[in-house]
Amino acid sequence: MLDSVPSLTRLIAELGRLPGVGRKTATRLAFFILQQPEGETQALARALADVKQRVMFCSQCYHVTETDPCLFCRAPDRDEALLCVVEQPQDLLAIERGGGFHGRYHVLHGALSPLDGIGPDALRIPQLIERVKRTGIREVLVATNFTMEGEATALYLSRLLRDFPVRVTRLAHGIPMGGDLEYLDSQTLSGALARRYEIES
Ligand SMILES: [Zn+2]
Repeated sequence: MLDSVPSLTRLIAELGRLPGVGRKTATRLAFFILQQPEGETQALARALADVKQRVMFCSQCYHVTETDPCLFCRAPDRDEALLCVVEQPQDLLAIERGGGFHGRYHVLHGALSPLDGIGPDALRIPQLIERVKRTGIREVLVATNFTMEGEATALYLSRLLRDFPVRVTRLAHGIPMGGDLEYLDSQTLSGALARRYEIES
């Protein structure tokens, strides 16, 4: 029983709210933290505070950044005409790890999921359309995940962008259904980038 140590109980409860962390893992982590030297736990506490204080979303692509615009939006040698749309910042990082892409990015922060009440306005889709209107983008590569939601989002975007003078492409298969970009090896991902194709809507 941990009732007599409320701060430990609180830490376990907070850690238990993290994704993929059950009560057992939360308890193990809490005891690990407790056994660490004070300097290390302070560094962890500072990192937690800093991430909320310093990290923001880029006003152009909505990637995470500490400076606005972000590194990718500021880079002068990236192709302005090619825009890669991803669901999450982690997907952008996965594509960067692959190394085959030299355009700009747009992070949606999710995928369409009507059952969960996630419609276009809950994502950065209006901002994407604004970008396409405003700038000289010629190709929108929809690199959403190969899940039902990711595919639905790709189809929705291809229909929405039909009225604009842009090619809408999708990553080539070779990526398994249900596959998260984040967990793909860089070779599969760079191959899929190279073999991207036009979405028929
Ligand atoms: Zn950016």
